[in-house]
Parts: sequence; structure tokens; C-alpha cells
Amino acid sequence: PRLANQIAAGEVVERPASVVKELVENAIDAGSRRIEVDLEAGGARLIRVRDDGSGIGEEDLPLALSRHATSKILSLEELEGVASLGFRGEALASISSVSRLELVSNTDDDPTAGWRVVAEGRQMEPRVSPAPHPRGTSVTVRDLFFNTPARRKFLRTEKTEFGHVEEAFRRQALSRFDIGWVLRHNQKTLHQLRPGDDPVARERRIASLLGKGFLENALHLDLGAAGLRLWGWVGLPTHSRAQADQQYFFVNGRVVRDRLVAHAIRQAYRDVLFHGRHPVFVLYLEVDPTVVDVNVHPTKHEVRFRDGRMVHDFLFSSLHRALSESRA
Ligand code: ADP
Ligand code: MG
Repeated sequence: PRLANQIAAGEVVERPASVVKELVENAIDAGSRRIEVDLEAGGARLIRVRDDGSGIGEEDLPLALSRHATSKILSLEELEGVASLGFRGEALASISSVSRLELVSNTDDDPTAGWRVVAEGRQMEPRVSPAPHPRGTSVTVRDLFFNTPARRKFLRTEKTEFGHVEEAFRRQALSRFDIGWVLRHNQKTLHQLRPGDDPVARERRIASLLGKGFLENALHLDLGAAGLRLWGWVGLPTHSRAQADQQYFFVNGRVVRDRLVAHAIRQAYRDVLFHGRHPVFVLYLEVDPTVVDVNVHPTKHEVRFRDGRMVHDFLFSSLHRALSESRA
């Protein structure tokens, strides 16, 4: 099972940012209202995600680290066959196989209750011991890739790795306005975002994550048709070129990178004569969950629409109309 986990780790755990993404997704899944992310040395030395979600019970703690590990798989060949199906439900097991991981959790409102389990690389011998913790979970990942030097060598500078973490954090914080967020690096607080899902709170968060200039040069839109809704902000031609990488697209609350979506947006931009402009946007597409399959791949942000043409046309015409009106 440890071999299985280490191979799975290659799929899920590429760098500190992928660890943060997985841990934060778990925190969101647990119904947290507040999520704190702490890093040291770009995440190579320490990554800690703390939440106030449902917590994990004493008996489930070791299971959380070993889920789906199957002793039936013995050879690399067999593993490769499994890998092609994609590993799911293995993030914690994968991360723990390439780090020193500590999981402390409490399902109870009593803050003196709680349990702790640790795993260190291949030596995963989870022993559960009492450890006080407020309701919720803290996962601490130390010395990422300490036992896989080849992988550790691929880590870039502290600044670069932190940049990737911050970008992952930004996406997740943009996907859930109703959650409060904190991001710290080397004890310094870089983002502190209060929860709030009303228009004022949303714009406050956008400004805080993307800079005040983003909203000053952006158009707000909210359009719906035939069971589809598109809302958010699109940059206008006055938008500074320095922020050309600000492209965020969410489908039903999940970050998505999709060629069909990119194409529709680019085409709308070009048609309204934003020549030579790289579109910048924070857009939310809400669709009936049955017309979209978001879980095409556990780590890649892929999406598959049942009727791609319809979605493309809706995006194009919505943006085209909104942008044209803003230029009239
Ligand atoms: P997956 O999220 O795909 O189920 P993970 O390895 O990421 O797999 O997590 C394993 C399990 O551990 C989760 O299914 C969940 O039950 C539990 N878990 C992990 N993180 C948390 C958390 N922050 N709060 C509550 N439960 C958690
Ligand atoms: Mg998970």
C-alpha cells in the first residue's frame, strides 16, 4: 500500500500549492466557515491548514490517512493500470507518504477534546492519542518530499513556490465568499478575508485579492438564460496590462480551465474590438449540475458540458452584449 500511495503522490502532490489545494478542498468539504493556511519557507518546511469544520472522529483518524490503500496491488504494472483510472480519495494518504504529517481533529464542541495522529513517509504507523483542539481539523505537513530527494530538487525558490500557493489560495477564496480565509507566510499575514456573500462583501474580497484597480476598470455583469446564469466581472480596455494573468472562471463554484470557455470569452472580446487585449475576468457560470461533469479528473480543472455548443453560445452572447453596451 505504501508503494501505491507514493505513486499516487506523484499524481496529486507536485509542489506545496497542490498540497494546499487538497487540504483546503477537504476543509471546504467539511463545511468549514473559516479556513487558515500557514506556510513556512514557501511550504517546503511547513504547510498547515486549520479549519472549523465537522472534524474527524477518533476511530476515523487513521482511516483518513490510509483510505483506499489496497494490499492486493503488488506490482508496478498493476499499479499503472490503476493509476490510469485516477486516484481519488487518496490525497491525505499520498501527502503523508512524502512528508511528515500530523492530523489533529475534534468533532466535539468541547475544546479540551480532540485526537491526533501522525505519519512519517513510509513509516506510517498511525497511533491515535488525545490532543485538545477546537471543533474542526488541523493538518500539518512538514518537510515535503524529505524522503523523495529527486522530487524535492524540483522545488523552485521559496518565492516561486509561495507564489503558486497564493494563486491556489486566491482561486479557492474566490470560489467561496461565504467562508472566512487567512493566508500567512513565515508568520506574516498576507490575506485576511472576512466572510460575506452580499455584493459589497464580494467586491471587498475581489479588491483585496486582485487589487483595487481590478474593479475600477471592470464591468459587472449578471445575465441568465435557459437555466444558465453568468455573473462576475470582466476587465475593460482601460485595464492595465500588468494584470493580464487575472483569468478566473468558476463553474458551479469550482475553478475550471476550459478551451471552450476561453474561446467564447476571447471571441466576444475580439468582436467588440478590444484589439490586442488579453481578457481579464472573474466569472461564475451556474448551470444545472446534470448538464455538466466537473469531475473528469481529480487534479486537473477540467469540465465536460453535455451541450458545449449551447454553453459556448451563451457565454459568447452574454459577454458580447455586456461589453457592447459598456462601449455604447
Ligand atoms: P477525499 O477528500 O477524496 O475523500 P482525502 O485523502 O483528501 O480523500 O481525505 C480522506 C478523508 O478524510 C475525507 O474523505 C474526510 O472524510 C476526511 N477528512 C480529510 N480532511 C478533513 C477535514 N479537514 N475535515 C473533516 N474531514 C476530513
Ligand atoms: Mg480530499
